[in-house]
Amino acid sequence: MMVRTQDNTAMECPICVTCGTQYPAAAAEPARCPICEDARQYVPVTGQRWTTLPALRATHNNVFRRYEEGLYAIGTQPAFAIGQRAWLLRTPHGNVLWDCIALLDDATLDIVRAFGGISAIAISHPHYYTTMVEWANAFDAPLWLHAADRDWVMRDDTAIRHWSGDTHSLLDGVTLVRAGGHFPGGAVLHWRDGRDGRGALLSGDVLQVVPDRKHVSFMWSYPNYVPLPAAQVRAIAARVEPFDYDAVYGAFWNAEIVGDGKAAVAASARRYIAMLERGPLG
Ligand SMILES: [Zn+2]
Ligand SMILES: [Zn+2]
Repeated sequence: MMVRTQDNTAMECPICVTCGTQYPAAAAEPARCPICEDARQYVPVTGQRWTTLPALRATHNNVFRRYEEGLYAIGTQPAFAIGQRAWLLRTPHGNVLWDCIALLDDATLDIVRAFGGISAIAISHPHYYTTMVEWANAFDAPLWLHAADRDWVMRDDTAIRHWSGDTHSLLDGVTLVRAGGHFPGGAVLHWRDGRDGRGALLSGDVLQVVPDRKHVSFMWSYPNYVPLPAAQVRAIAARVEPFDYDAVYGAFWNAEIVGDGKAAVAASARRYIAMLERGPLG
């Protein structure tokens, strides 16, 4: 979106360089980024910096990678801000964009339109809200966010729909699950028909897939290494337990568990809780 100031200079919506969050267009850049000033993110020692979508388009592009039929990850190179990927999930009932990245460029618009556009957007938590309003407007798609995190919306829009409670059916076979933990409204997406009907969980960093690709972790703040209490890890495990899934697709490149995902999550929760309550085993 572009607005014009009183002296008729064009103003683009500013984007925080550290977290990728886009703010409303204004005559001056915001003084601060509340997402980064929160202890679950950080302001770099070099200070707050801003960019815009046109500037980002000039230096970055998006890449697509297919993980299974109907499931594509979209990421930006070189890495920008937090560096997460978004997911395009294609189903017979419509396409879903799960999570979001700041860069929306012409190539991405063309490719996603060729796939049939987007029927609904849902985002795991505020760190990935980024330019969600640009994506929602470009594809004329409703934008589903959990109501518990509504205070973290930095650029409001009529496309935003808040859901509440612990589950929300987005499309047939696609269910949002509020896991909590990292953020009170922290959500994951369950895809019933993924992995040839064994199911898949798109976990963002609410369940963070770790480098062995056999476990997940659960943190309140990832950059500042602040853990969650055992009771909240137990609650996360309980909220995803009713769902069956074989794969866990995480927020970052090379962060997916392919095979026995549900058992991996349950074992990871047990390991984490045991460490908090009893210390190292063996
Ligand atoms: Zn920020
Ligand atoms: Zn996060």
